[in-house]
Parts: sequence; C-alpha cells; structure tokens
Amino acid sequence: MSRFLKEQYQAMEAYTPGEQPRDMQYIKLNTNESPYPPAPSVVEAMTGEQVELLRLYSDPTAKNLKEKLAGMYGVRPENVFVSNGSDEVLNFAFMAFGGQGVVFPDISYGFYEVFADLYAINAEKIPLEEDFSIDYHKYCGKNKLVVIANPNAPTGMTLPVEQIEEIVKSNPDAVVVIDEAYVDFGGETCLPLIRKYDNLLVTRTFSKSRCLAGGRLGYAFASPEIIADLEKIKYSTNPYNINRLTLLLGEKTVEAEGYYQEKCREIEETRAWTAAKLEKLGFTVLPSKANFIFVKTDKMDGGELYRTLKAKGILVRHFTNPRICQYNRVTIGTKAQMEAFVDTLKEVLL
Ligand SMILES: *Cc1c(COP(=O)(O)O)cnc(C)c1O
Repeated sequence: MSRFLKEQYQAMEAYTPGEQPRDMQYIKLNTNESPYPPAPSVVEAMTGEQVELLRLYSDPTAKNLKEKLAGMYGVRPENVFVSNGSDEVLNFAFMAFGGQGVVFPDISYGFYEVFADLYAINAEKIPLEEDFSIDYHKYCGKNKLVVIANPNAPTGMTLPVEQIEEIVKSNPDAVVVIDEAYVDFGGETCLPLIRKYDNLLVTRTFSKSRCLAGGRLGYAFASPEIIADLEKIKYSTNPYNINRLTLLLGEKTVEAEGYYQEKCREIEETRAWTAAKLEKLGFTVLPSKANFIFVKTDKMDGGELYRTLKAKGILVRHFTNPRICQYNRVTIGTKAQMEAFVDTLKEVLL
C-alpha cells in the first residue's frame, strides 16, 4: 500500500476471484465458466475486419444489443441496461441505490460485501437458515437496498418467484436487486415483475450460460427510470464500458439462443448425473438449479479435499468461511470432466 491511498480504502478487502492458475492444465471446475465454446456463428463473427474497427470507439448506447435483448425477453429497450460483466451493473447498483444501507444473505456472492465496503454502505447480513435456504420474510419491509442471488451462490438454491414478489412489494421505497447470473440452468426468472414494480432490478450475465466469461458482458432489466439512473452512473464513469468486439459477440449470442438452450440442458443433465454419483459416495449435495453443486463429505475435511483434488489436477472452489468450510463448490463441466472428477473422488476417498 502506498501512503497516498485514501484512508477509507486502506482497510478495505478486495474481492478474491477464483484462481486461474497457469502452472499446469487443470480440469477447471472452480469458477463456473461454461465447458463449451460459444456458438459457431459467434466464433465466426470475430474477423480481422472487426479487429481493425477497434480504432473506432464502441457504441455507448449499445443500441443493437439492447434491441436484441429486448426482443428476446419481451421488454422495451428502455428496460435494458448492458455492462462490462454483471459485476459492473452490481457495482453501479450499489453506488446508485445503496443510500439507505443494504441487506443481503450472509452466504452469497462475495462481491456484495466488497461493494458495500467500497461505498461505505451499512451492510446487514442475514444468516441463511440451517438448511441454507433463504427465509424471504427476513427481507420484507427493510426499505433499504436488497440484494439476493437467485439461484444463490455458492449454494445453488432458489427462492420461488412469489416470495421474491413479496420482498419487492414490501420494500416500495428501495431497490431490490435479483442477481440471476445462474437462472438459465433450470431456475425461474422474476423478470415479468419489472412490469408491475418500479423498484426491481434483475441482473444477468453472458459469463455462465452464454460461454463468454472472458468477453465481459452483463445485462439487466428494470423500469426505465432505474435504467436511466444506471446510465447516468455509466456516463459518469466509463461511457464506452463495453468494447466493440464484445458488443458484436453479444448480439451474435442472442441470435444463437437455440445453441445455448441446448448447452444449458446438457449441463442440467450432467448436474443430475454428478449429484447422483456423489450421493452414492456419501456426499451431502445441496439441491442446485445452477451450473455448480455445493457438496461435502464426512470422509474428508473440505479444505483438505480441495487441496487433494488440486494435486490431482482438478480445481474446485473452497471457501474458508467457517459456516461453509466443509463444503466445496464444483462447477458442472462436460460429462467427461465429471466422470474424471468422480473417478478421482473414488480414488482419494475409498
Ligand atoms: C459470476 C457471477 C456474477 C458476475 O459475473 P460477470 O462475469 O461479472 O458477469 C454475478 N453474480 C453472481 C452470483 C455470480 O456468480
């Protein structure tokens, strides 16, 4: 740390991304990326000509992409925001709507706490229930920014849309952010509620189900007024927040919806297969609607299992938070990757 850093940032702890090691080839099941490449039409869109066009700024209004997203999801372009990964729209939401404080579950996406720290927003963390579910009553009538990932991370567990509606309805003077990063793997979206409530912000990403984590593209839906607020923040920080190539790939991705639906169904099948195998090995597997499962075994400490797997070339995500340190989060890869994962588990546990 230099002596120049503002005092408010000195004690702040930054977000720790999942490791992206370069020392060897791992079966990478630690950051919830897709094991599949983008659709062929997306790959083919990336030409030398497009790279040459990088001399020009990207479209700050992202008009084409917004129109395509609006068309696919049955909303108006004024209901759509696009961002440099969904981390960026979450960042903007904390910046814009955190004035009265924020509330989120104690076990959830680690970035929420980082954003609260970054903007010195008072954060209330509500413990998940014993079974890691969310009791929606505890988020009603808060009238401060509410942030819930649905499905939640790293549990993969979901909240029914009717319960989300109760949260939104009971917090009319605050924004409720529902982070749907993992909704495409069998979850239920609360998107239709944006027509009824002007305080709901639904965030999404191309990183998980759209095989574009390295492209950095996120999007969100809300009332035109909330979108306008987010645009104001964007134009005050980085008007060209999405590069030309990513905008183009995003448009092509929306056009290739069928391909991605198919890949999501494959992930769901592989998830069910993996969960059944692990249960047979005696694992506890939380019920997941995401592209990962959250698992523990009595046969080995969570941290030790993570290290053992890593030594054998398989990376999973381990969290040191005492409440979940016996668990590991395992991204659903291809069937072949999961077979290798299960075989390795048998080798180290049996
Ligand atoms: C991965 C993830 C995101 C952010 O992903 P981006 O790559 O920034 O789009 C947001 N929320 C949750 C819960 C995630 O797991």
